[in-house]
Amino acid sequence: MTPKFSGGCLCGAIRYRCEGVPLSIGLCQCERCQRQSGSAFLIATVFAREAVHFDAGELNIYSVTDANGSTLNRHFCGTCGSAIMITLDRYPEIRSMMGGTLDDKSVLKPSFSLWCSSAQPWLRLPEAITQHPEYPDGLIA
Ligand SMILES: [Zn+2]
Ligand SMILES: [Zn+2]
Repeated sequence: MTPKFSGGCLCGAIRYRCEGVPLSIGLCQCERCQRQSGSAFLIATVFAREAVHFDAGELNIYSVTDANGSTLNRHFCGTCGSAIMITLDRYPEIRSMMGGTLDDKSVLKPSFSLWCSSAQPWLRLPEAITQHPEYPDGLIA
């Protein structure tokens, strides 16, 4: 059976698959995610840690201390630079897979957006997407 949530990087070196369905799908419009994605936002498709399997390739990691003092790790392909995954030291039980790397992007139905306070002014999200000005306390994404 082909897993529904499979994906990989632009050059094909990194391949992954996720079991089950995402815990959440959200956008992040923070300045750092705009910079990493080279676009207006990135799409975080959140799975439990044990649901994510890498079948090929080795990820490079860029780690920074985020606004609340915890470490945020951006995992990317060292060959083509595609952003693949974000992990947060304060939420070790989850993996945020970058939605644009999925093979079937029709499954992406984001329900919220973080950091709308730094959104590009020309971007209007549908009302069905809950829009948080920053990263609300208690949200795991
Ligand atoms: Zn690659
Ligand atoms: Zn962000």
